[in-house]
Amino acid sequence: MSEQDSSPSAYVRQRNTTEVNGTSRDLTYPPLPEGLTVPVYDNHTHLEIADGVEPLTYLEHLDRASSVGVRGVVQVGGDLETSRWSAEVAANEPRMLAAVAIHPNEAPRYAAAGALQSALEEIAELATRPRVRAIGETGLDFFRTGEDGRAAQYESFEAHIEIAKRNGLALQIHDRDAHDEVVRTLKRVGAPEHTVFHCFSGDEVLARICADNGWYASFSGNITFKNAERLREALDVMPRALLLVETDAPFLTPDPLRGRPNAPYLIPYTLRAMAARLGADVSMLAAQISSNTELVYGSWGDDPPVPDADAPRPSALA
Ligand SMILES: [Zn+2]
Repeated sequence: MSEQDSSPSAYVRQRNTTEVNGTSRDLTYPPLPEGLTVPVYDNHTHLEIADGVEPLTYLEHLDRASSVGVRGVVQVGGDLETSRWSAEVAANEPRMLAAVAIHPNEAPRYAAAGALQSALEEIAELATRPRVRAIGETGLDFFRTGEDGRAAQYESFEAHIEIAKRNGLALQIHDRDAHDEVVRTLKRVGAPEHTVFHCFSGDEVLARICADNGWYASFSGNITFKNAERLREALDVMPRALLLVETDAPFLTPDPLRGRPNAPYLIPYTLRAMAARLGADVSMLAAQISSNTELVYGSWGDDPPVPDADAPRPSALA
């Protein structure tokens, strides 16, 4: 990696998918949607992943987001490299907070290399950095990881829960085909005060369990998909005080833009679809979700970035 590549604005990952559901993707970023009157936050995104024919830098993403009423993001890591990047960029960017973790599909890889323990130690260290406000994404994924990787997933998930609790941070859960075991694990070891099911993928039953336990459901663009009636039924029964919204960009672009690169500036589509389903006013729902988001992660204005004395100042560029 060259010196320039290690600067926080350089991409850490490239999304290589050119097809979604067997059809080739339109690799251009969609135009800006109509802006929101009352702003929201995107509480789960991956701005380190370059996507599309003309990838956007994280600053371009944040500027577009600001222009349509998306006032901040939680930038989420999934391994050491992306967690470091997230913490480093958030420390210097007022519109970004960070989440750090080893993703449940990465945990078995670290374990196989004998490196899970040291990776968890570094996550615990990153968790103490300024503007790191969540541990995630962590959890269980029985879709991509088979039986042989389960022990590492449990070990990693439980360690992340412990790190979140120790530091008073929110927990962002990745749960794929593992609802019962995620719930059982949270009950067994005790969930952090602010526990979020990122990209909520359960049904009405899981929604009621979340509601009973005070856990948050963060809905992403897939709630707009035609075949996602189950998710919309889950939305119906969630208390509004436990709702969050996210993009999981560059993935899960909402309809009618499915397959194109996703970005925080597209969250109005998902928010409007949620409001329509609930028969709620878009601005009222946005206000509720913004307040929920600040309760979970704290204010984006707290613990502000300290300007880097070595960085070129705007005045120096004039
Ligand atoms: Zn994610």
